[in-house]
Amino acid sequence: MASRIPVTVAPGDGIGPEIMEATLKVLDAAKAPLDIERIEIGEKLYHEGHSAGIRPEDWESLRKTGLFLKGPITTPRGGGMKSLNVTVRKTLGLFANVRPVKSLAPFVTTKHPILDVIVIRENEEDLYAGIEHQQTDEVVQCLKLITRPGSEKIIRYAFEFARRRKRRKVTCMTKDNIMKLTDGLFHRVFAEISEEYPEIESEHLIVDIGMARMAAAPELFDILVVPNLYGDIVSDITAEISGSVGMGSSANIGDKAAMFEAIHGSAPTIAGKNIANPSGLLRSAVTMLVHTGNGTVAGTIYNAWQRAIEDGIHTVDIYTPMHSRKSVGTQEFADAVIERLGEEPQKLPPVRYEADRPNVIKYNRRSPAKKTLVGVDVFVHWTAGGADELAVMLQTADNERLKLQMISNRGVMVWPEGYPETFCTDHWRCRFYTTKDSQGLSTDDVIGLLGRVADQQLEFIKTEHLYLFDGEPGFSLGQGQ
Ligand code: NAD
Repeated sequence: MASRIPVTVAPGDGIGPEIMEATLKVLDAAKAPLDIERIEIGEKLYHEGHSAGIRPEDWESLRKTGLFLKGPITTPRGGGMKSLNVTVRKTLGLFANVRPVKSLAPFVTTKHPILDVIVIRENEEDLYAGIEHQQTDEVVQCLKLITRPGSEKIIRYAFEFARRRKRRKVTCMTKDNIMKLTDGLFHRVFAEISEEYPEIESEHLIVDIGMARMAAAPELFDILVVPNLYGDIVSDITAEISGSVGMGSSANIGDKAAMFEAIHGSAPTIAGKNIANPSGLLRSAVTMLVHTGNGTVAGTIYNAWQRAIEDGIHTVDIYTPMHSRKSVGTQEFADAVIERLGEEPQKLPPVRYEADRPNVIKYNRRSPAKKTLVGVDVFVHWTAGGADELAVMLQTADNERLKLQMISNRGVMVWPEGYPETFCTDHWRCRFYTTKDSQGLSTDDVIGLLGRVADQQLEFIKTEHLYLFDGEPGFSLGQGQ
């Protein structure tokens, strides 16, 4: 007999407790070999003053079991509170967020009967790095971080996944026509790694048209690999067009731990009414069983769930008079699945799971590039005039090694050439560039420059160094430069 698997379980808040109760009831009836450790997370914990929504001692349970079945929680807005989901993903190194979506037509109404897509979303970086600053009265910024290790790991994971599951195509979506360095890196790594998997078709789409096509013609897609924010959006679109966001499951996979949760949130307006669809969480629990090598019991539950759907036993979010036989509540739906354990669907294809523990994806750091400092962007908070006046003041900071080259506002060049129509905020990016290209600058050059800028009573609020990496610029030009 298989050994029992320790798992940390947190019901969450909103509809979390009721869908977790329904899910655990099914797991128990199917004799899933789990040893459950319960912890509390969510709103109540935030109100008790735990800024991450979890008690510090409960991290021990998560680190010990390395397996987390999690209900949705209400994310408090503002006030220094951190999203628990993002914290857990990053703390436990859960770099891959896998969100499979499949149409259950004709039993669940959808305009897209041919839909079988797996969204593989990068889970730790991008705008979710959570590094935000207010820099002037008028301007706030959020740092978008895309890294080579992060991109390589998720993209390799997606291709390995496609190979194991014998899927035909991997599509990458980015906005690298605009974000040439950040999204450009993700796209470049995708192109590099796709060459190692010649049997799998690969394509890249700009994310706006890519998502539009997903909404209009999901049958064009198979596996998607995307940076964090695009993945969040496109997986909700995909789940919603399949019938209900309440059915979407997700697995957050790392080398040492994994977390399984529905893709939907805590749905506070329907909480406590026994009407929520528990399918998203139940399907996530099935993925957890597959992940832990319990494919047989996972298949039994999934087939019983498909049979209940096929029999028209539907929660209200997917109920339609044409395709449903009975409208049921959350717990009654779970009971209907339990009654069908051991049965298979008759029209939908029954599943047979094999143990699916992904390979550990290793990252091999490359030898460093030759890095040459060639300039510095000095960001200035200023309202006393326009770009030409600012340039006159800044040029007094020029010396024989560094000169003011360009000023931009919200990325648009406004000096030395600009247009009077361009609206300017109080946040100016002032680019000083080396006059001695081949030699490179030193930190002392930058410190000296900042001293001279401060002497002009100009308030600099941040700097970004401009480097060449093996002779290639590691910075973007101003729009219009
Ligand atoms: P939501 O996913 O909670 O709800 C969106 C819509 O879908 C609502 O109409 C809701 O009633 C419906 N819905 C969601 N799950 C359903 C289910 N299982 N059955 C039937 N209908 C369902 O999104 P929201 O309203 O934007 O967010 C509510 C709260 O949840 C917010 O605080 C948000 O930050 C949080 N949230 C948490 C998670 C998570 O814990 N993983 C994910 C997303 C949002």
